[in-house]
Amino acid sequence: MKCPKCNSTQTVKNGHRKDRQCYKCKQCGRQFLEFYRPWQYSQKVKLQCLDLYLEGMEVRAIERLTNIHHTTILGWIRQVGLETLNRSKLKNY
Ligand SMILES: [Zn+2]
Repeated sequence: MKCPKCNSTQTVKNGHRKDRQCYKCKQCGRQFLEFYRPWQYSQKVKLQCLDLYLEGMEVRAIERLTNIHHTTILGWIRQVGLETLNRSKLKNY
């Protein structure tokens, strides 16, 4: 996890706050919460989530299963074109 202040990668896990991983920067001492970046997940994980969604699973259920925030998952669904999405399209994505 990169520090949002000095961009250092010298950060350590520093407990949890509101169910989110907390980090502390060793460089500048800044404490920050894990931020949600859809692009930090691999294509494989992303497709897995979309697959579950296509199976009829609720986004919140996918969140519980994968630990990926539902807004991230919703972003992916929106990104690939949600309702019109079907299995063959997903494979070609
Ligand atoms: Zn820092």
